[in-house]
Amino acid sequence: MMGRGFTRGCPICGQRRIFKIIAMLDDCPRCGFHFERIEGHWVGAVGINTIVTFATMGVFAAGGLIATYPDFAVVPLMVIGVAIATFLPILFHPSSRMVWTAIDLAMRPVQPDELQQKRTTEHD
Ligand SMILES: [Zn+2]
Repeated sequence: MMGRGFTRGCPICGQRRIFKIIAMLDDCPRCGFHFERIEGHWVGAVGINTIVTFATMGVFAAGGLIATYPDFAVVPLMVIGVAIATFLPILFHPSSRMVWTAIDLAMRPVQPDELQQKRTTEHD
C-alpha cells in the first residue's frame, strides 16, 4: 500500500489515474474507495509532506556542508535549500495524500461499505 501511495496510486487497488497534475478525484475510479475517510483526513498528508520536505532539506544541507568542507558554499546551498523547500511540497503533494491514506488504512482497515460508496451515490 505504501509503494502504491508513493507512486500516486490508490492504496487499495493501485489505480494510477487519480490525479490531474495535483487536482485529485474524490473516489477511486476503479474500486470506488472514497479517499477522504473522515473530516480532517488530509491533515495527516500535510504532516507526511512536511516530514519528507524537512528530511530532504536536512540530508541535502548535511551532504552539502560535508561535500564543501572546509570552505562551505553557503549561498548556493541556501538557494538550493530554498528551492527544495518551495517545490518539493508541491511535487510531493499527490504522493503525500496517497501515502497518508495507505498509513491510515494500515491503522484502520477498509470496511466493505467504503468500497461501495461510489455505487450507492451513483444510484441515489
Ligand atoms: Zn482503488
